[in-house]
Amino acid sequence: MTEHLNHFIEGTPCEAFDRRRFDLVNPVTEQAYGSSARGTREDVERAVAAARHQLERGGWSQLGGAQRGRLLAKLADLVERDSELLADLDANAIGRSPIEPRRMDLPNAIANLRAAAGWANQLEGRTIPTGGYFGTKTLSYTVREPVGVVGAIVPWNSPLMITVWKLAALLAAGCTVVVKPSEETPQSALHLALLAQEAGFPDGVINVVTGYGNEVGRALCEHPDVAKISFTGSPEAGREIQRTAGVLFKRVALELGGKSPQIVFDDASFDDALRGCALGLFANQGQVCAAGSRILVQRSLAERFGAALAEAAHAVNVGDPREPGVQMGPVAKKAQFDRVNRYIQRGIDQGATLLAGGVSTPEQGWFVRPTIFANARNDMDIARDEIFGPVGTLITFDSEDEAIALANDSTYGLAATVWTGDLARAHRVAAAVKAGAVGINCWSPLDANLPWGGVKTSGIGREGGFSGALAYTEEKVITVLLPA
Ligand code: NAD
Repeated sequence: MTEHLNHFIEGTPCEAFDRRRFDLVNPVTEQAYGSSARGTREDVERAVAAARHQLERGGWSQLGGAQRGRLLAKLADLVERDSELLADLDANAIGRSPIEPRRMDLPNAIANLRAAAGWANQLEGRTIPTGGYFGTKTLSYTVREPVGVVGAIVPWNSPLMITVWKLAALLAAGCTVVVKPSEETPQSALHLALLAQEAGFPDGVINVVTGYGNEVGRALCEHPDVAKISFTGSPEAGREIQRTAGVLFKRVALELGGKSPQIVFDDASFDDALRGCALGLFANQGQVCAAGSRILVQRSLAERFGAALAEAAHAVNVGDPREPGVQMGPVAKKAQFDRVNRYIQRGIDQGATLLAGGVSTPEQGWFVRPTIFANARNDMDIARDEIFGPVGTLITFDSEDEAIALANDSTYGLAATVWTGDLARAHRVAAAVKAGAVGINCWSPLDANLPWGGVKTSGIGREGGFSGALAYTEEKVITVLLPA
């Protein structure tokens, strides 16, 4: 065991209040490679107190938007300087190839910090004409104030990028934060907190408490001084958080899962659609909230497209992601390995045609074979539930209306992709699909300037883009009487 991680509270690494720890396990070797402080309610109490102090009385509360922007720009430079290290920390913790976070997560995180550096000074109010007050003229204006101390709860699949989505926006808005990283991946959030300290953020603005969801996460959600919970994770945990937050009237943003359709029309570029669907299925072992795991394909194309996707699945080189040429590592944890295999078995039992992959036998490391099902129905479990693994489900449609109906027949609504060469159809379908984000001829185009979030079971609220920063503010209206 090498890594010995701790909380980061008020600028100082510290053990848990009761000195308990939990193991960090490598998904390739299944061996513990380190441990981290197992947070308690007392640790959360200390971290929230530090964040509240900075918000109300500390140096942070004195800074204007321009100064917060300068600090965010400096942090972006430091994240860029350490981007290989940060990508490797995230990749090693979940057995992902480091090439993916280097190419996708880190550039996105850096761009988010740079965009937020600009937003910090643009959170303006409005002057609003009114009918006056009992016959006397008034002047009314609004100001944007930070919502307060934020509890940021993060999953394991893209930890640094998702942490930055939250931090960039909330820091731009003038909030302070307690981050609760996933128990699988505390490393990059702790390194980010150190970089923020190096950039000059006052101690206590960014605190990190490591540990379990039902301990640290729950304590954050129940803390009366936490004004907003920004959560990314599963619908099950999101539901519980929503219940707790509802009773306490906390603000919540919930970024939950998806079962996102990729709709392939027969007028699409075959090669582009194939590449996009394979990326949407297999990136990060399919452990992506926006994974395009429901492939709706027009009947005339279905057989050829299914065969090509199966070939793409066979061609994926699965193994230890640190070995050269390996494209796909194991899934992140044993529970995930069991879950994905359970769904693959259910797909077989419910009568879908297995074109590639299948149930994986446990060897050393939680490796799952890229799997493609064809001839599936939209009421099968493999079409309805988020599997969070490299499993694609092909469903055939005949008409545009049927494709839209199938796409919308889901409890989820995070993302969708439309593959077509017909521009009018592309816009028609994009308008009709119920999802937070639609890509036309591109799977999951993330950008720092674009809002991200879902409808239905995929969540509440948006993060990213300027609207993401506004979501960390309260709009206050001030009215002054102007007697003649
Ligand atoms: P998870 O819900 O198990 O855990 C997410 C985080 O919440 C972890 O830090 C965990 O410790 C904490 N947590 C768990 N239970 C909690 C509780 N009762 N109260 C407070 N905190 C709690 O999810 P996961 O397995 O880490 O991540 C996978 C899920 O996240 C998938 O459903 C995926 O789709 C979703 N996800 C969504 C997005 C998005 O942008 N919509 C992005 C990434 C992942």
